[in-house]
Amino acid sequence: MLDHTRRHILVQAARSMNRMDLNQGTSGNVSLRVDNGFLITPSALDYDRYTAADMVELDMDGRVPVGSRKPSSEWQLHRDIYKHKKEAAAILHAHPPWCTTLACLERGIPPCHYTVAMAGGDSIACASYALFGSEELSHNALSALDNDRCACLLAHHGMVCFATDIESVLALALEVENLARIYVQALQIGEVPLLSSEEMRVVGEKFIEYKKQE
Ligand SMILES: [Zn+2]
Repeated sequence: MLDHTRRHILVQAARSMNRMDLNQGTSGNVSLRVDNGFLITPSALDYDRYTAADMVELDMDGRVPVGSRKPSSEWQLHRDIYKHKKEAAAILHAHPPWCTTLACLERGIPPCHYTVAMAGGDSIACASYALFGSEELSHNALSALDNDRCACLLAHHGMVCFATDIESVLALALEVENLARIYVQALQIGEVPLLSSEEMRVVGEKFIEYKKQE
């Protein structure tokens, strides 16, 4: 894929986050894996003002070419996920309201609905709190993403997820935000019954089958 095309895709993805109500202000960021590094949205710039040239390419040591904009303050979180999750080709981090509501309570999303398995496990974990932009945040997020999970909440912060392409990462983020909303709503009515680990295992296997057919 041409560099300009990739940059344009990233600009469109950032604007999609706004349209999908995944983003608040300029807190969300999205990235794409490229040869020897990744391309990420810049720090503190209104998404409507983004141009392809504003996207920032970093190598795996976090170095940016001279003249680039400053990368998102969460570039290290993206870098560390790319490093440890070989299948990750696109990453989205944001503070969507329903995910963040649960994250403020230090709660993840249990198997209240079968689509929790879309995030790769039988629950979506909430990573322990760490300062934004810190190495500890990456460490805690990676712990919450263990066992093939591809989405997690970040305590007192927001959520992060990854996928094999940009459309899939946007779809996954929206799914996780919908699940968070449904779980919070269900909690308001009463105790939420959960699916068993056996029921979730069967769902997980079926999702893997569907993916193979795509
Ligand atoms: Zn954040």
